[in-house]
Amino acid sequence: MASVQLDGVRKVYDNGQVAVHGASFEIADGELMVLVGPSGCGKSTLLRMIAGLEEISGGTLKIGERVVNDVAPKDRDIAMVFQSYALYPHMTVAENLAFGLKLRKHDKATIDARIKAAAETLGLTAMLDKLPKAMSGGQRQRVALGRALVREPSVFLLDEPLSNLDAKLRHSVRTEIARLHRQLGTTMIYVTHDQVEAMTLGQRIVVLKDGQIQQIDTPMALYDRP
Ligand code: ADP
Ligand code: ADP
Repeated sequence: MASVQLDGVRKVYDNGQVAVHGASFEIADGELMVLVGPSGCGKSTLLRMIAGLEEISGGTLKIGERVVNDVAPKDRDIAMVFQSYALYPHMTVAENLAFGLKLRKHDKATIDARIKAAAETLGLTAMLDKLPKAMSGGQRQRVALGRALVREPSVFLLDEPLSNLDAKLRHSVRTEIARLHRQLGTTMIYVTHDQVEAMTLGQRIVVLKDGQIQQIDTPMALYDRP
């Protein structure tokens, strides 16, 4: 587990677009923090900077005690879940789960044990030999969660993980994510444009608008004075 600290973190794209104006806040160890706001407010950019997928234009980003501004994504002790699942279509569920671990040179016994545990946690045990195309959207997003889970990261980053699901599946995967957070106690940063999702999932919520932080508070406090 690790905290995430942002101090004046900025993003200016090459075309001059300022996507994030000096953001400063801390996500505590084990906290589930939601970043919410309308399309274009900068939430994906912020999450992608934390993931290391987007260069930081200014400020300091720390994961735990370490400044990670120039640390490669694979060395940040984070795992990210995308809205599009990003599964490999030609690989089975088990192979998809193993991929990131093989890349990091874990031994076979560790990989097998972690896949077994993650599959049990997410109800995927009977599907390990299936290809993604033979699965529902909800099951695919469970595999995407599993692929992050097997990495045992200090910080989970989730970018609109429910937005490709229909209403019923959205509810069940959201419940799954809340349960995972309770069970693991890991730091999670969750991006959504959906206020209801933000209010039901977040322990605290960062409200963004035009690349600026408007509010940071608990759902209860935001509900009392929106
Ligand atoms: P959100 O995730 O809240 O929809 P984004 O972080 O995707 O917002 O985008 C924030 C702003 O930065 C928007 O104005 C968007 O058009 C712009 N933007 C995003 N990516 C790029 C890019 N690669 N180049 C230039 N501008 C970008
Ligand atoms: P999201 O709302 O999930 O961020 P978008 O459709 O806004 O998705 O963006 C999809 C991709 O296009 C992202 O990688 C984003 O960085 C990039 N992008 C968004 N806005 C711009 C822009 N104005 N110029 C260049 N790339 C952009």
